[in-house]
Amino acid sequence: MRTIESLGDEALAGKRVLVRADLNVPMRDGAITDDRRIRAAVPTLRRLAAVGARAAVLSHLGRPKGVVVPELSLAPVAERLGELLGPVQFVPDTVGAAASAAVSGLGDGQVAVLENVRFDARETSKDDAERGALAAGYAALAEAFVSDGFGVLHRKQASVYDVARLLPSAAGELVAAEVAVLERLTEHPDRPYVVVLGGAKVSDKLAVIGNLLGRVDRLVVGGGMAFTFLAAQGLATGRSLLEPGLVDTVRQLLVEADERGVAIELPVDVVTAAQAAPDATSATVAVDAIGEDQMGLDIGPRTAERFAAALSDARTVFWNGPMGVFEVPQFAAGTRAVAEAVAASPGLSVVGGGDSAAAVRQLGFADDAFGHISTGGGASLEYLEGRELPGLAVLDGEGV
Ligand code: ADP
Ligand code: MG
Repeated sequence: MRTIESLGDEALAGKRVLVRADLNVPMRDGAITDDRRIRAAVPTLRRLAAVGARAAVLSHLGRPKGVVVPELSLAPVAERLGELLGPVQFVPDTVGAAASAAVSGLGDGQVAVLENVRFDARETSKDDAERGALAAGYAALAEAFVSDGFGVLHRKQASVYDVARLLPSAAGELVAAEVAVLERLTEHPDRPYVVVLGGAKVSDKLAVIGNLLGRVDRLVVGGGMAFTFLAAQGLATGRSLLEPGLVDTVRQLLVEADERGVAIELPVDVVTAAQAAPDATSATVAVDAIGEDQMGLDIGPRTAERFAAALSDARTVFWNGPMGVFEVPQFAAGTRAVAEAVAASPGLSVVGGGDSAAAVRQLGFADDAFGHISTGGGASLEYLEGRELPGLAVLDGEGV
């Protein structure tokens, strides 16, 4: 992996450098609810500013799906970055005339944040030529590229992968630090090695489990993804999150885990309600008693105890995905219990994922209660599976 040194720090003085950061922070009603990812982008930008580079920052925010969604503008994010870093210019454009004028106008050590890259459908296109055309537009803005959006390294997207093939490119400080931790998890992890999965990106995360089975001793599954497992065991899950198309795959996984001697811990009880609302009437029920019109919104207390027991002797833990809808206090207890158990586990504990990181913070845990809090859930998981991350692979070797 090429790092900023390989670009020659001093050679960057006066140069326009495009930085792909991951400033995809959780927001509610227009306010940033956790600025961790913004803070994580600061070291690279400071370093570039210190050597007199002119940084243009690219990022996505949310999933606007190729159209301009004003609520997903990076303007408030640029403002927050400015509070942390000193003056930051926001440019409501990515590859148009306004962007090139703004980037050309930067002085040494100055920073601009461009608009949400996902307002342009080509950013995430499956068509190489479409992505390539957008990447050429990005590349025209700058003389070098620094890849520091750890959370998107597993995505073959224009601002992550394609642009890195067009400019002299290197990994930023955040990517280097995250990869260093993940290396510790993949090369000789201390055992037992336990991976805890939850959250809402069910299909993404189910896909990784097959490959994790060969690496871990125990898998603990809660959150929205647990219901596809429960359905695979023939249980009725009411209106809970469910990926019906993946039930068969999960059934296979359960057989495979059994054959490999990997324990998969699933919920035995859940907290249900008709909606994920603060005033909803909730009930704690066994997993075979979920009402037809109810949704499972948290793991129950017996499950929390079992999950904590599965973590109590773990010497390596990776946790991605809240155990329930922690944003609503009455569905946060499971996530809190698991966070406590992960924090108390005797070895290296890594928490990954935007919402997972936000959850532990919102629940009042200090950052140093965990060995490492990663800015990327999906990227970490794919790395841990042993898969090549396109955004990382493109930074290997000699480069442009
Ligand atoms: P991360 O960002 O840490 O990778 P995800 O984005 O996959 O995590 O999932 C986070 C979201 O999952 C949270 O907003 C939480 O409310 C939601 N969630 C967790 N459990 C459930 C559940 N049982 N039903 C619906 N949503 C859930
Ligand atoms: Mg998330």
